Amino acid sequence: MRVYLLISLLLVSGLSACVTSPTGRSQLMVVSDSQMSQMGLTAFNDMRKQGKFVDLPRERSYATCVSRALIAVLPPPWNTQQWEVQIVGDDNANAFALPGGRIGVNKGMFKIAADQDQLAVVLGHELAHVVSRHGAERVSDNLATQMAVAAGSAYAGSRGDTAGYTAAALGLGAQVGILLPFSRIQESEADTLGQRYMAQAGFDPRAAVTLWQKMGQQGGSKPPAFLSTHPSSSGRAQTLARQAQELLPAYQRARSSGRAPTCHL
Ligand SMILES: [Zn+2]
Repeated sequence: MRVYLLISLLLVSGLSACVTSPTGRSQLMVVSDSQMSQMGLTAFNDMRKQGKFVDLPRERSYATCVSRALIAVLPPPWNTQQWEVQIVGDDNANAFALPGGRIGVNKGMFKIAADQDQLAVVLGHELAHVVSRHGAERVSDNLATQMAVAAGSAYAGSRGDTAGYTAAALGLGAQVGILLPFSRIQESEADTLGQRYMAQAGFDPRAAVTLWQKMGQQGGSKPPAFLSTHPSSSGRAQTLARQAQELLPAYQRARSSGRAPTCHL
């Protein structure tokens, strides 16, 4: 809640801004990079205090090796930032990267991601969310939605309508109209950028198709946790396959210029 209070103060003081994502999309931003970094570091430290991280040195150095290769090709300031990688004691295939330079990989991820290229798919995607400031965008959009709903309730109240009903209708409309499409856009943006980082770092971009197929198959009737927080579009596999072909020259250039990671368990 304190976060929202902070953002409200920023909004009324006129510090909100529109910025452009790495793929050229305009984004509403009411939180700064340093505020997002602070939130990322706090969330990561909370996980540490709660004992979520496990001591698996081999997995940790493997994930660190893949992360380092990817981080080297990120734009500044992310490429020079100090990143920490931890293994989370969770059997679900999942991973995350946080503003502030923190990465968590569930131990269940290693059962799905069979090699460094497949692990790079997931980590490239997560790092792309950070570089594209998707967390800040989500916070900003949520706040805009809440303010729209609050404004709608006040307006309905002044007209003598049923404020709750109007708010619910507006809330639903706002959710469908703003939040869901945005998160699909963010997902495909993270796919595109993550695959680009992979190729530039010398990881085979074709592994993205394989990895997401395997992620979709695991868990049987119950979708894996990763996919519930990462909604994907129906054309995802085709898009990834097409982008992989377009990225092959970049991948080959990276390999021949010495960007040829050798990370393994
Ligand atoms: Zn995602």
